[in-house]
Amino acid sequence: MSVEAPGILALVREDLRDFAGYSSARSARLQGEIWLNANESAWANAADVDAACRRYPDPQPADLRDALCALYGVRTDQLLVGRGSDEAIDLLVRATCTPGRDAVLVTPPVFGMYAVSARLQGAPLVDAPLRDDPREGLVPDFEAIERAALARGARLVFLCSPSNPGGAAIPLDAVATLARRLADHALVVVDEAYGEFSDVPSATSLLGDLPNLVVLRTLSKAHALAAARIGVAIAAPELISVLRRCQAPYPVPDPVARLGVAALSPDALARTRARIDQVRIERARLFDALSRLRCVRRVYPSQGNFLLVRFEDADAAFAALLAAGVVVRDQRAAPSLGDALRITVGTPAQNDRVLETLATLAAARPAPISTAGGAG
Ligand SMILES: *Cc1c(COP(=O)(O)O)cnc(C)c1O
Repeated sequence: MSVEAPGILALVREDLRDFAGYSSARSARLQGEIWLNANESAWANAADVDAACRRYPDPQPADLRDALCALYGVRTDQLLVGRGSDEAIDLLVRATCTPGRDAVLVTPPVFGMYAVSARLQGAPLVDAPLRDDPREGLVPDFEAIERAALARGARLVFLCSPSNPGGAAIPLDAVATLARRLADHALVVVDEAYGEFSDVPSATSLLGDLPNLVVLRTLSKAHALAAARIGVAIAAPELISVLRRCQAPYPVPDPVARLGVAALSPDALARTRARIDQVRIERARLFDALSRLRCVRRVYPSQGNFLLVRFEDADAAFAALLAAGVVVRDQRAAPSLGDALRITVGTPAQNDRVLETLATLAAARPAPISTAGGAG
């Protein structure tokens, strides 16, 4: 018999509901002048010129957390800062899935970390593949997701919006409907790693009505800080508090927190927004130009900073780009993407190199005997 848990805590592992986590030297609200409670060095390292790293950091650096809350328009008790959204994905799986029992549902082809975290936790993985719509591209099949989640006991449903690698964004009403239908059964996680590039607004606006909704955001993509590893989970306060207790004691290094705060200053944000506009313009240009190439079967419409492209001969396209010094993401191992490459939108000059290389390839290719029967 499982212990009755109120509301959203019913979706947390029974054995973790009263888990307090690690009690760090920074968690106690003590007042003092001389801190001798954490076995830190009394002197700064010679290389640490402003002595910023001598002590353990704030587990949730307040300045960074406040800046992120302002950026995403949420309250501090709704947000957890961690080492990229990858850590948030891992924490969600660990906090909700009892190994060998509770499943994780994913919508392939999709970002691989959901499956990696599920595997590490021993959580069964349930697939509800994206549907290939001739107009909209690779989109979730919501009925199949709901059916599979309920039938297979999924505790977590990962939606990726805009989706990597497909590029389609999920309308908010579809997210809300799914979350409502799965309310007592699963958390619905919307990974918005590419949300800044999208026309669809963030699912954070739905949080008040949907306690089983989680939104993931990151500074890795649009904010150009992939190496800083700053990502967040945004959810109901009860759930955020559980995730915090499952998290490592000091997840955000002090130099990283300072960089993050600086990156969210009004000046830096204005420049980031200008870059996002530029990426969207280049994305449209690339989409049009790629769509016209003879070696290209299909370009998927994208709300991200990348394009998924099916080729007549993906091997030849990959090799030609590589020979021109351009490395793109090979998607050919992914189910149903045997002829596809994912190309990140670069600078205008880099995108020109991609287009020139593929145009040469298209010219070198003998004309197709038949145009029928492209991608299956
Ligand atoms: C890149 C990416 C991430 C990784 O984000 P980090 O914050 O760098 O860990 C998460 N989700 C998707 C879909 C991504 O493509």
